[in-house]
Amino acid sequence: MKALAKTERREGIWMVRDAPEPEVGVHDVLIRIRESAICGTDVHIYNWDAWSQRTIPVPMIVGHEYVGVVERVGAEVTAFKPGDRVSGEGHLTCGFCRNCRAGRRHLCRHSVGVGVHRPGSFAELLSLPSVNVYRIPDDVPDDIAAIFDPYGNAVHTALSFDLVGEDVLITGAGPIGAMAAAVARHVGARHVVVTDVNDYRLGLAAKLGATRTVNVGKEDLKTVMADLGMTEGFDVGLEMSGNGSAFRQLLEVMNHGGKVALLGIMAGQEAIDWSQVVFKGLFLKGIYGREMFETWYKMVAMLQTGLHLSPVVTHRFPIDRFQEAFDVMRSGRSGKVILDWNA
Ligand code: NAD
Ligand code: ZN
Repeated sequence: MKALAKTERREGIWMVRDAPEPEVGVHDVLIRIRESAICGTDVHIYNWDAWSQRTIPVPMIVGHEYVGVVERVGAEVTAFKPGDRVSGEGHLTCGFCRNCRAGRRHLCRHSVGVGVHRPGSFAELLSLPSVNVYRIPDDVPDDIAAIFDPYGNAVHTALSFDLVGEDVLITGAGPIGAMAAAVARHVGARHVVVTDVNDYRLGLAAKLGATRTVNVGKEDLKTVMADLGMTEGFDVGLEMSGNGSAFRQLLEVMNHGGKVALLGIMAGQEAIDWSQVVFKGLFLKGIYGREMFETWYKMVAMLQTGLHLSPVVTHRFPIDRFQEAFDVMRSGRSGKVILDWNA
């Protein structure tokens, strides 16, 4: 089969035309991919940065954001049948650690990543354990189903705290920050302020639901807060940039007793002013992946109650033009970029 793979230990990604079809175990579902989206993680792998060099076995079929149709199921699978339209949870959990057994599978100590540790979705076919497969309702379009993975990151982070009537700061207007702004507005936040240093990305956040965007390279956040009549500080902060200075700025403008969820992955260690955390009594929560499968249920429910995400998909390319897709994704002038396997 055709697949996009990391076949060499250097910058780039390559089309392989004779990749082996994945094995389908008795509990597995074989999915024919229709669309796959490019994640920031795929860009790290493309760039062959220090994390990728440590993490990715070569050769590896990359990709973990997708929608497809069930082609075939293993002998023990009863929940899915050929023809079902599905996406899937990209973290495979062990099922036996304390958290897994307590139903907190997103906190598994041994999770394995699709397209990172095992073959991914930049391929004609993907094999996935049926417990990880998620059926997509007919009223959710393919483009949105293809980005359920990052949308789930946004939902998991944004719904960590009660946002009703709260003032929310989101640092980082990448696709996930922009989708988190949409979610925050949908569930009833008051001000949803989004910061970035990239005006294209801020434009995206504004389209999705930010009530105010701030380019912190040009504008002073505290002046914006004063303009908005915010005399105390933000109630909830969502760190979605992975940038240390954005995180330090967020801590500075949180109200006392504020709640902060951290999704962004910082490249290395970052120093913060701990007095901001201690004296303000801040609550900090790290976020990894999506809750299985509470986040997925809420994702569908919000789409079915009017959450509008389509502006976050800014580009689409037939799979053979994957190089252009990676180039636009790496340029910083895109939201989600979709690779179409049917075209
Ligand atoms: P992205 O890289 O597309 O977006 C990050 C944005 O932060 C960019 O638009 C960038 O311009 C902006 N930024 C840079 N410096 C800034 C500053 N000083 N202030 C404000 N914004 C600044 O990433 P994404 O795909 O939207 O993902 C968001 C983050 O979440 C990334 O760090 C990603 O690695 C991380 N992530 C974590 C998980 C998890 O499970 N924890 C899952 C997916 C992604
Ligand atoms: Zn586990």
